Amino acid sequence: MFTAFVIVYGLIGAAIGSFLNVVSDRAPRRASLLRPRSHCPGCERALTPMEMVPVFSYLALRGRCRTCGAAIPVRVFLVELAAGALFAGLAWYHGPSLELLADSLYTASLLVIMVIDLEHQLILNRVIYPVIGIALLVAALRVALAMPRFLHYGYWIAAGWAPRLTLEQVGALSQGIGAVLALAIFALIYLVAPGSMGAGDLPLAALAGLLCGFPGTLAAVCGSFVLGGVTGAILLISRRASRKTALPFAPFIVLATWVVNLWGDGWLLRYLFG
Ligand SMILES: [Zn+2]
Repeated sequence: MFTAFVIVYGLIGAAIGSFLNVVSDRAPRRASLLRPRSHCPGCERALTPMEMVPVFSYLALRGRCRTCGAAIPVRVFLVELAAGALFAGLAWYHGPSLELLADSLYTASLLVIMVIDLEHQLILNRVIYPVIGIALLVAALRVALAMPRFLHYGYWIAAGWAPRLTLEQVGALSQGIGAVLALAIFALIYLVAPGSMGAGDLPLAALAGLLCGFPGTLAAVCGSFVLGGVTGAILLISRRASRKTALPFAPFIVLATWVVNLWGDGWLLRYLFG
């Protein structure tokens, strides 16, 4: 039964990956997400339902349009596959729960932000602000349903702070502190070294802080700098980039945030209680 749940959730994830591809294609052009229906960019032919089955139709068509032979971007396949695998993994990790719903929303959102930044070096306001809205909604749900996350409140409780607040109130406060802290760190870098990152990295940093709380935010921010630094060094050494190459930074924030959001609970437990 649980296996069936994981598989079905993974298939839903792949279908959502398909939608994330549409968002990644259309949001940068300010195009509608609903119309026109999905079509081949080569010959403009509307896709049949069979051609829209995520992952499998790409494999069956060997990555080419059936009529005109135009290549389907490999990203389409990778995003569907990644979303399917990540959703299945989340379903297995969390089981049916608020955490599964929250992490599914975050995973899908972060994936789109990463893809658009990789392809366009842009973090779009019309993508990032709705995602921040989702994160605030989940934060409100945690308080309303009294379902706090240890990652958010654990440090404060262990530090003996705020005994008059409930765990979920401490958690929400911690998320707010994380958002302000991440925003402050990135705003400082933005001011001290203009051009080192885009203005769109600021709301993304706030989102990272909101997801990770305090002190998880510090781990996510440091993690993103380490990932970015190592990747930059590898690109320089392998001569795939020069010092002037602008490296999209969102993927590193996304990866670090995603990892801390998912595994931060366990790390914090071990850090606080050995
Ligand atoms: Zn075609």
